[in-house]
Amino acid sequence: MQFRDLHRQYEAMKAEMDEALLGSARSGAYIMGPQVAELEQQLAAYVGVKHCITCANGTDALWLAMRALGLQPGDAVFVPDFTFFSTAEAAAILDLRPVFVDVDPDTYNMDVADLERKWQQTWESGLTPAAVVAVDLFGRPANYNAIVDFCNKKHIPLIEDGAQGFGGSIGGRKACSFGHISTTSFFPAKPLGCYGDGGALFTDDDQYADLLRSLRVHGKGSDKYNNIRLGLNSRLDTIQAAVLQVKLRHFDDELRAVNHVAKRYTELLRGKVHVPEIPDGIVSSWAQYTIQVENRDELQARLKTNGIPSMVYYPRTMSRQTAFAHLGQEPCPVADRLSQTVLSLPMHPYMTDEEIETVASLI
Ligand SMILES: *Cc1c(COP(=O)(O)O)cnc(C)c1O
Repeated sequence: MQFRDLHRQYEAMKAEMDEALLGSARSGAYIMGPQVAELEQQLAAYVGVKHCITCANGTDALWLAMRALGLQPGDAVFVPDFTFFSTAEAAAILDLRPVFVDVDPDTYNMDVADLERKWQQTWESGLTPAAVVAVDLFGRPANYNAIVDFCNKKHIPLIEDGAQGFGGSIGGRKACSFGHISTTSFFPAKPLGCYGDGGALFTDDDQYADLLRSLRVHGKGSDKYNNIRLGLNSRLDTIQAAVLQVKLRHFDDELRAVNHVAKRYTELLRGKVHVPEIPDGIVSSWAQYTIQVENRDELQARLKTNGIPSMVYYPRTMSRQTAFAHLGQEPCPVADRLSQTVLSLPMHPYMTDEEIETVASLI
């Protein structure tokens, strides 16, 4: 069994995909070919925002968002303690100061009460609180009702790191629309993945959109060889845009399929291990299906013996990363505990009911 079966996905859309791949090979327009702008329009429409700006990967997207927001070296940026490294790395690389916020043990997302506490401590320590980066971990949108209120009250911008969240929604409003700038990743295993690295930013703000389009191409001005600021070389390849156009056509079917898989897992496992429960009105894109168990190593070994892959996302919190040791931040207790108990199960749109039952019965 595969953890995320990308081969089955390819087989399911093979004819269209082969045509898209060969079409972009034949076109010769390998950088910023017409598929890139088309895809940006389609993604913006899907998410329900004015602008989509694609880029080279989800980590660059975070860097670009922080640059476009004008965050200054030394400014404090609040990020969840339980996330993929990039979220905090992007801030640290810009000499911003990541401040780690604990998460909710059921949603895995930023705990707004701890955000308030960390904001207060940061303020008292003399640092300037400058932005919040909320993560839609494992596909579930963060608690944006409360986080957006908090950011408005404090007059600081919100970045939504939707690398795992693309496709999710709250009350019909799509993930990647909640931040002043939102980001996503098209790494192959993400809910919407390409055949390599890719990423995108979303915003309703015309000025941010113009800045992002400049920053992703070396800070270009009105023409390419007039550079008015420092940026990156961070474009999405034409061939990846072509792949994503095909996958986007199938995306809502895949979203329905992963929600079916999650529902089956939950029916079979509820009451036996801690399962993710998603309330009515919230849709997860199920980047991961993550349970919590006390005997994780034992369970993981048992699954492995039976040919079932499983993964630990994440075994180490941000405050315990060596790269952030110099920040000297207190560890976050909930995130610490999760790093010891979480286990992610095989999850993708092409899992059969039989496979789901095999995994569940072993657990
Ligand atoms: C994958 C991921 C990223 C980074 O995306 P890349 O495309 O791999 O650079 C950022 N944040 C989160 C939460 C992620 O899961």
